[in-house]
Amino acid sequence: MTIAITGGKGGTGKSTVAVSLAVELAKNKKIMLIDADVECPNDHLLLSVKRKKYCNVYMPIPKWDFSKCTKCGKCAQVCKQNAIVFVKEKYPAFVKDICIGCKACIVVCPTKAISETKKQIGTIYIGKNYGVNLVTGELKLGELASGEIVSELRKHSEEINKKLKNEITLIDSAAGIGCPVIASLIGADYIAAVTEPTPSALHDLKRVLYLADYFKIKRGIVINKFDLEKSFCSKIEKFAKNNKIPIIGKIPYRKDFVASTIKMKPVIETNPEYRKIFQGIIKSVIPVEAGI
Ligand code: SF4
Ligand code: SF4
Repeated sequence: MTIAITGGKGGTGKSTVAVSLAVELAKNKKIMLIDADVECPNDHLLLSVKRKKYCNVYMPIPKWDFSKCTKCGKCAQVCKQNAIVFVKEKYPAFVKDICIGCKACIVVCPTKAISETKKQIGTIYIGKNYGVNLVTGELKLGELASGEIVSELRKHSEEINKKLKNEITLIDSAAGIGCPVIASLIGADYIAAVTEPTPSALHDLKRVLYLADYFKIKRGIVINKFDLEKSFCSKIEKFAKNNKIPIIGKIPYRKDFVASTIKMKPVIETNPEYRKIFQGIIKSVIPVEAGI
């Protein structure tokens, strides 16, 4: 079973929820946690894991052979990223950092002056603690292709899973609803959407739940810090009721939540109240026949 933890808005507590669920599940099952927040991965910090490099991730980029170039400018015209600068009667200039590797320039070049090479866009790391097998993707500084890193991360995780034979995979997605989030949700059996009682969080939650419906993935809502603004929390509950979306967990705000993060210790290991809440979320998400 694959469960994606997402929610739209950043800072709602997705990573804390993902790590807590992973640590609780790992007490009975073989668990893999994929940290797909590749621009800013931090599950290894919350789990106190010293990561080991698994592999580098590369992306195809074009390479020019100016001896074959007729200075027609077609490659620059087709590049939607404006990664090719063309000045009449000059050879095209390539801005590598903004190329997304779509290969349109290679296809369009009439003289086959452009071939394919590659550049490193990130790294995949592995590690283990609290019984959780962690796989993390990290985008190289200044690179843009976070969606590609997540897709590669998912592929390599499957490969790792074949060896480790994990029974449940949790995916901690990035904030938002863009390419890296979509790449995280593909193939998931369930989406746990983590939100908080604020207007911006509810706005972003609706967008991510739209994605869940688009991909026809079962979903439920976790309201984090629900007691900070109870009147807005009831607005989220009303929205959930009207749209027949289950609230699978309500997490109160406690100072030790922050303290355990600073100590790099999963919150369920420091507070039994939280452990019960996460056990409740697991019961709502995972069918009884999975034996958890
Ligand atoms: S591969 Fe795509 S993005 Fe990169 S330079 Fe060519 S057309 Fe532009
Ligand atoms: S499309 Fe090919 S021939 Fe035309 S400018 Fe680009 S590299 Fe040169």
